[in-house]
Amino acid sequence: MMDKSTLKQVKEILESAYVCKRCILRFFCVKEYTSYISKTDVEKSIKLLVDEQSDDADQTQISQEDSSNDCPSAKRFSPNPCPSCLGILQGVCDEMPSKLDDAVVKSQHKFKDFILQVSLPVVVDLRDRLFLLYLEEKLGDSYSFDEEEIPSVKEICKWVIGSQYGRLTKSDFTPDSDFQILISSVYPETIKECAVLFKNCPGAFPKARRRKVKEEEIYTKTAVLHAMEALSTDMKKMYSLPPLPPDKCCTFDTIKCNHSPLYLGGRYNKYSRELSQTPWILDGNPGGFLVFLFDTVNFFLEIIFSASGREDVDVKMLGNGRPFVLEILNPRCLEWSDETIKAIEDEINKNSDIIAVRDLQVISKMDTSLLKEGEEKKRKNYIALCLVKKVLSPEDLKILQNLKDLKLEQKTPIRVLHRRTLATRERLIHSMEAKIVSDHLLQLKIETQAGTYVKEFVHGDFGRTTPNLGTLLNTTADILELDVENIHLEWPPKPNSNKNNKES
Ligand SMILES: [Zn+2]
Repeated sequence: MMDKSTLKQVKEILESAYVCKRCILRFFCVKEYTSYISKTDVEKSIKLLVDEQSDDADQTQISQEDSSNDCPSAKRFSPNPCPSCLGILQGVCDEMPSKLDDAVVKSQHKFKDFILQVSLPVVVDLRDRLFLLYLEEKLGDSYSFDEEEIPSVKEICKWVIGSQYGRLTKSDFTPDSDFQILISSVYPETIKECAVLFKNCPGAFPKARRRKVKEEEIYTKTAVLHAMEALSTDMKKMYSLPPLPPDKCCTFDTIKCNHSPLYLGGRYNKYSRELSQTPWILDGNPGGFLVFLFDTVNFFLEIIFSASGREDVDVKMLGNGRPFVLEILNPRCLEWSDETIKAIEDEINKNSDIIAVRDLQVISKMDTSLLKEGEEKKRKNYIALCLVKKVLSPEDLKILQNLKDLKLEQKTPIRVLHRRTLATRERLIHSMEAKIVSDHLLQLKIETQAGTYVKEFVHGDFGRTTPNLGTLLNTTADILELDVENIHLEWPPKPNSNKNNKES
């Protein structure tokens, strides 16, 4: 820490350049964030450091600043917006907690804690550098802090807004929160102030070489920091020192709220041969699952549906169903009680006879990756109704039933070539059970490795799957109906089984 007399000099130099009190504290290199929160705290901390007696004139000025907090123009900053933080720490940040409150209430988010992200114009970094050069010029080696040590406008701004907003809403301001509030700023003079860097160090601005680039896009934080690095102390000659107060202060223009996704897991059955997997979640379908979900939670949800694999439109999904996940983006409602979930499940099942849902529950993000992993490993059982050219005999059944772990070579089926790369994959049919339905009709129950194309195994896909049912029985075969009977993946955990595990 510098001695009191140097700090006093720093204060005087910065005050005569119209630097605000929070910024003075920054250039004192005070790192205790609590010193910055209220204007009274800031005053106290400065006084303590430079050991001044209470000063009435100062007091008057504070109360004036406070009373003009509602005025959005730059005029309230007497006589000028702070040339270091562009007015942000001078008062703009103190208006934000109530603005955040309005925005968050409007967005209908529920939260217990929050994290704040603030984007500021790169000019604040530029001006910090210039003030450090100025202090060095005035004080020489007795001013010993460098850029890394000085708390940035952004850090202090975040801390001030975060603490005040936390106090206002009785919530915690913590980096671990799932609820983010993002605030972004506008500063109309960015181009004007950064153009000097570009003129003197064009190499640092690679975006400028692109055609069709907007001028403000050239001045990214990286580029500006690069140029400052390259120009070093030469910057003194390019800008006026001390930096002049800006004509307009920096203001915050947008507040966005976002909550990390919430995941619901479950299994579904599909009893129709005319319903594809994705449309049943879309509008206009009899089973309008999500339509119902939207109604229940009554908010504008965005939901992404994914399942462990998929069946074709004309394939039924029977048995214990297929595991699926609903990823609810930016959820407003966080408390999904067991009763609510059960009610959603019951309502879906009551209103549809072509789809059914079971085991619906809130799951963790980790559970969703288990679903993806399981997709590659799980066995599946199918029931296929096959038409064969020859008249079936009991010998045919024996041939099929005796095959265990039959290895297939499957070239990517013609019907999926548009979305999958052409390759030959080896897949296993673990076992088969056959039943003659009539002379040319065969019911086949088969258990396969994950990723086996069953339809192609039956009809052969023009010889692209070998062996196939035709080659095995020395005839030709086609498939009439296919159902998925079982997917061997225990997922999601049965409702309430988590709680039981914890208890035992
Ligand atoms: Zn300032």
